Amino acid sequence: MSFIIDRLAIVGVGLIGGSFARALREAGVVKTIIGIGRSRPNLEQALSLGIVDEISFSAVEGVKGAGLVFISVPVCSIVSTVREISAAISNGCIVTDGGSVKAEIVRECELLMPAGCHFVGGHPIAGTEHSGAAASFATLYRGKRCILTPTENTDSKSLDIVTRLWDATGAVVCPMEAGHHDRIFAEISHLPHVIAYALVHAVGTADVEGENVLSYTAGGFRDFTRIASSDPSMWRDISLMNRQALLASVDGFSTSLAELRKSIEQGDGDALAEFFTTAKRFRDGIL
Ligand code: NAP
Repeated sequence: MSFIIDRLAIVGVGLIGGSFARALREAGVVKTIIGIGRSRPNLEQALSLGIVDEISFSAVEGVKGAGLVFISVPVCSIVSTVREISAAISNGCIVTDGGSVKAEIVRECELLMPAGCHFVGGHPIAGTEHSGAAASFATLYRGKRCILTPTENTDSKSLDIVTRLWDATGAVVCPMEAGHHDRIFAEISHLPHVIAYALVHAVGTADVEGENVLSYTAGGFRDFTRIASSDPSMWRDISLMNRQALLASVDGFSTSLAELRKSIEQGDGDALAEFFTTAKRFRDGIL
């Protein structure tokens, strides 16, 4: 068996880190996996489920000797985690991440790499609304895209190794400039989450003659709002870290909503039908 990496360290063994570990283990491309985190129950579960071979509560200790470190903690903690481990990683180590926002992380983490170590930014386009090691599964990335965000400073050999690892998970690797990534994902991921939370918040606090209107919701509401069940702190962090791009997306959405509101107010059925038909065409064309 030929390993791509002998010793892989995963900092943050949750849905994303745990699924990365499971997929690589199943593919047989890593020899030993060490899981690093803060919470004993989560790490012990990762160990007992066979996701990792060893655990450590110290990132500095845990990354020692690793050929590759995958950072899969919440986006606001990625740069501080890389800062913490930067003096402890071995010469030649590759550090990569799975964070949902890229420009700031890539800019800061590249600067934190000691000589001989290399950072490659990444973001797998796969997930569920569940968190923690127990929520992870080996097939999460199969057939899904994984965006890698190399820059002019990226070491080509390290990029190649990270690409091969993601290939081994079954993901389809797609290179993209980090700022472009953040603007695209503000539109197609961060905005929908913000809207889902806003919708459920609005409906949950609506007062229709004192009735709890949520008790009347059915399948359509559940489908549309599934992502509002995601971890609130994760989405707080993503919203803040991708603030500029997300604000532009929220403004674009507000314009669409205002247009819709005007058509409803004016009783303009033709405008409503055209709006809904255009949206349906976009939706049916991609899903
Ligand atoms: P998760 O299931 O909550 O896992 C994150 C792990 O990081 C936790 O198990 C936790 O382990 C550790 N952690 C939590 N808070 C931390 C903090 N403040 N500082 C350091 N470690 C912390 O989350 P996830 O869904 O895997 O997300 C991880 C990363 O992947 C995030 O950057 C997210 O943006 C990105 N991502 C998520 C999705 C998705 O759909 N969920 C998709 C693509 C990318 P301990 O408690 O043991 O420390």
